[in-house]
Amino acid sequence: MQNDLFGNGDTAGQANSDEAQASHLIEQYRRLLNQYSIEYYVQDAPSVPDTEYDRIFKSLQELESRYPHLITADSPTVRVGGAALPEFQQVRHVVPMLSLNNGFEDEDVTAFVRRAEEGLQSGSGPVPDIQFAADLKFDGLAISLIYRHGIFEQAATRGDGSVGEDVTENIRTIRAIPLRLAGDHPPALLEVRGEVLMFKDDFARLNARQRELGLKEFANPRNAAAGSLRQLDAKITAQRHLRFFAYGLAQYAGPTADNVAPSSHSELLVWLSRFGIPVCKYQACVNSAEGLLAFYRDIENRRDQLPYEIDGVVYKVNSFAQQQQLGFVSRAPRFALAHKFPAQEQLTTLIDIEVQVGRTGAITPVARLEPVQVGGVMVTNATLHNEEEIRRKDVWIGDRVIVRRAGDVIPEVVASVPQQRPATARQFVMPLHCPVCGSPIVKPDDEAIARCSAGWIKCAAQRKGGLWHFASRKAMNIDGLGEQLLDQLVDKDLVTTAADLYSLTATQLAQLDRMAEKSANNIIAAVTASKKATLARFIYALGIRHVGEATAKDLARHFGDIQALISASDEQLLQVNDVGPVVAKSILGFFADPLNRQVVDQLLAAGVDCSSADEADGSARLLAGKTFVLTGTLPTLSREAAAALIEAAGGKVQSSVSRKTSMVLAGEEAGSKLVKAHELGVPVITEAQLRQLLQAS
Ligand code: NAD
Repeated sequence: MQNDLFGNGDTAGQANSDEAQASHLIEQYRRLLNQYSIEYYVQDAPSVPDTEYDRIFKSLQELESRYPHLITADSPTVRVGGAALPEFQQVRHVVPMLSLNNGFEDEDVTAFVRRAEEGLQSGSGPVPDIQFAADLKFDGLAISLIYRHGIFEQAATRGDGSVGEDVTENIRTIRAIPLRLAGDHPPALLEVRGEVLMFKDDFARLNARQRELGLKEFANPRNAAAGSLRQLDAKITAQRHLRFFAYGLAQYAGPTADNVAPSSHSELLVWLSRFGIPVCKYQACVNSAEGLLAFYRDIENRRDQLPYEIDGVVYKVNSFAQQQQLGFVSRAPRFALAHKFPAQEQLTTLIDIEVQVGRTGAITPVARLEPVQVGGVMVTNATLHNEEEIRRKDVWIGDRVIVRRAGDVIPEVVASVPQQRPATARQFVMPLHCPVCGSPIVKPDDEAIARCSAGWIKCAAQRKGGLWHFASRKAMNIDGLGEQLLDQLVDKDLVTTAADLYSLTATQLAQLDRMAEKSANNIIAAVTASKKATLARFIYALGIRHVGEATAKDLARHFGDIQALISASDEQLLQVNDVGPVVAKSILGFFADPLNRQVVDQLLAAGVDCSSADEADGSARLLAGKTFVLTGTLPTLSREAAAALIEAAGGKVQSSVSRKTSMVLAGEEAGSKLVKAHELGVPVITEAQLRQLLQAS
C-alpha cells in the first residue's frame, strides 16, 4: 500500500524500507571513507580532495544521527585517523591522540561558544565568562614527543589515536626539534603534542626533485610531510627539511625549580617556548565568538603570505580546568573547534579541453569544468598548462578532476581521479591546426609549448592577444580597451596593429556593440593619454618574447632611448642586467622583423612619446606624502631593503606609530607597534601588499 498525501498508509513498512536504504548507504559511505583514509593516512597519497572526504563524512554523520542504533564502534565517525603501518614499531599512547570537531560557518563558531558556556554553567547560575585561545590549524601531521629529564626519548605518530608509529629516529633528524630541552631544571617527564609540517618552498623544491627523478609527486605539503616522516630510513627524512610547531601537552611530571606548570593553553605555549620547543607566533586570546571570528578573518587575509599551509584556525577554551570540565566526545574534545577555511581544492567533472592561442602563438589547453566553488569563487575554467602536463597528470576528457585555486593564482587542474573514470572518457589530442587561423601548430622538440606557426599578421588570436597586452594596465594602460572591444575592433578589421589604435575615431567606436558616444569619447581620451608613456612601459607593451616588466625597465634604464635599443648589438644587449643570450636573441629577432619595425615607426609617428620620465620617477610618485612604520620580521625583505623600496617610491619611514602614520608594514613577531596601529586604527599591511602598492600605477 502506498502512502497517501496525508501521510496515511503503511508507515511501518515505509520506515523499514527507509531504514534498509539508510543502512545500505551507511555501508557504502563507510567503505568509501575507509578506502580514502587508508590512502590519506597510511599511504600518504589521497586520491580525492579533503572536501570530498568531508562531504561523505557529513552525510554519514547525518544518517547515523537519524538511525543511532546503526552506529558501530568501527564507524569512521567515532574513530580517529588510520592504522599504524606494521613496518614501524608500535607505540601505545598513554593519553589518546584525538581529532578535532570541524566548523565551516560563522554559526558553527557561535554554536561552539554557546555549547562551551552551557557546559560550564552551573545549574541556573550566570553564564560563565570564558577565555578562548585561537591558534592556526597547521596542515601537517600530529606527533607526540616525549622528553625525560629534558632529553628527547620517543616520538610517535597519531595512528588510530590509541596506537601510533614509533618515528623517534626520524624525528631526531628534524633540526627544529630540540634533542635536549633548554634550561637547567627540565621536568622529569614531558609529553608534547604538535604538528610536523613542510614549508611551501621546501615542498616546491621536493616536488621539483621528484619530477626530475621521474618519481611520483606529492599531492600537497601535508602528504609530503607525512610521507617524509614515515620513512623506514631516517636518512631520507633528514633530506626533507621538516618543521614543527607545538600546540598541546599530554603528560607532565615535575614541577621544576624555575617553572610553574601552566594552567592554560596560552601559558602553555609560552612555557614550551622557554624549553626551546617551537611554537607559532600567530596566537590570540579572546572572550567572545566575535573575537574568534575576527581572528579567523585576520588569519584568512594573511594565509597566502604564510610560509606554510594552514587549512583553518583552531579555537580552544583557554583554561585547562575548564577544558577538563568540558571533556571529550568519542573522537574529539568538546573544548576545541577547528574552523576551516573554504577549501582550495574541489572535485568536479572535466567537460572538455579546448585550446587558447596566446599573443606569441602559444597554445594553452584549457579545461572546461562543471562549475564548482573553489576557495569561495565559482570556477568554470582552469589551466592545464601544456600537453605534457596533461599526460603527466593523466587527465582525460570526462574525468573527475581535482581543481585547485589558491590566492590570486589562476585555477588549475591538479590531478584526475582515474578510479572514477567513466567508460566514455577520452584522451586529449593536440589539434594539428590553430583553431583561430587554421595554420599548422608546431612544437619544437626542446620546448614544452606548442605554437600556432602563423605570426600576428595572419592569426587574429595573436593579434588580439598582442593588442590586449599593449593596452594592459602595466603596459600603455589604455583604460576601457578591454578584451570584448578589442575582439570587435579586430573582427571588423578596424585595427590590425597597435599603431592603428591611434587613428581610431569616436564615430567608429560608437558604432560597436555596447558602445555609445560617451564611452567612445572616453576611449579616445584614454588612447590619447597613453601617448605619453615611459620608455619602460613602451618596451614592455611591444610584447617582445621573454621581455617582461622587469627586463623592460632594465632595458629602458640601460639604453634610455628606443632608437638605441632598436640598433643595439648582441654584445650591447648582453651588458644589460639580467639579459642573457635567450633574451638578447629574442630582442634582436624582434627588431630584425621589418613588420615589427614598421609598427614601432608608426607608433612614434602617431605621436607616442616614450621619452618621459623613467619608471623610477614614475614610481616615485606612488607613495609620495605617505609615512610608514616597520615592525617585525618580513618574509623576504630586510628592514633596510623595505625602507629603501618605500623611500625610492617617495614614501617616508618613521620609527614610531602615530595617528598621522599612513601604514604599518608588519611581519612575523611584530610587537607593540602593531598593537598601537590597531589601537589607533592605522592600516596594517604585509610585505606582499607593499609590493602590490609599489606596482600599482
Ligand atoms: P583534522 O586534520 O581536521 O584535525 C585534527 C588535527 O589537526 C589534529 O590531529 C592535529 O594534527 C591538527 N592540528 C593542526 N593544528 C592544530 C592546533 N593548533 N591545535 C590542535 N590540533 C591541530 O582531523 P583529522 O582527524 O586529522 O583528519 C580529518 C581530515 O582529514 C578530514 O576532515 C579530511 O579533510 C582529511 N582527510 C582527507 C582524506 C582524503 O582522502 N582526502 C582522507 C581522510 C581524511
